[in-house]
Amino acid sequence: MLDEELLRFGQRFHGHKCPAMPMGLRAALAAMEKLGVSRAPDGQLVALIEIDEDHCATCFADGVQVATGCTLGKGNIRKLHFGKWGLTLVDRRNGKAVRVVPRTEVMRRNKQSKFMELRASGVPASQVPDAVVDPLVEMVVNMPETDLLVVGEVYDHAWKDAPHTFETVACEACGEMVVTRNARLLDGRVVCIPCSGYGR
Ligand SMILES: [Zn+2]
Ligand SMILES: [Zn+2]
Repeated sequence: MLDEELLRFGQRFHGHKCPAMPMGLRAALAAMEKLGVSRAPDGQLVALIEIDEDHCATCFADGVQVATGCTLGKGNIRKLHFGKWGLTLVDRRNGKAVRVVPRTEVMRRNKQSKFMELRASGVPASQVPDAVVDPLVEMVVNMPETDLLVVGEVYDHAWKDAPHTFETVACEACGEMVVTRNARLLDGRVVCIPCSGYGR
């Protein structure tokens, strides 16, 4: 399950020690186990995460990326912007999915910790003393799954793959490459969005 090596890899990728990243690891591992899948070398899995921008514990997403192989670069992780910590993992090959969410009591315990108190007062996570953060990490790593997470039942998730485009063109204003469907027409020239002056 969550072995030391995966935790260390996650922490190295993520940049600091905190309870939310390992929570993402645990949620991801539970979802993968429930679906009977392993880490995605390509785009076999899709992770839908319910976090939004600019709020606490978004570090959760990095644990999900590390454990599932659903990454920003591969494009198989999406934010749903609910401001919640649910993870829905979809197996593209058979359309099966499962939703996993950290238990409210555990989230509340983290929230009431000295770690969150320091974070809320502006202390960067990397500056929080080990004595404060280590017990929280240990708790998330070692807590029995049923105490930590709510793992839903596997269900059929309607999933349509968007066509993956390989078409690119050079912007006629700045000369940089742009995906063709993202290019805009401005006075008869094919330009990128920043050069077009259009919002999107
Ligand atoms: Zn973090
Ligand atoms: Zn341009």
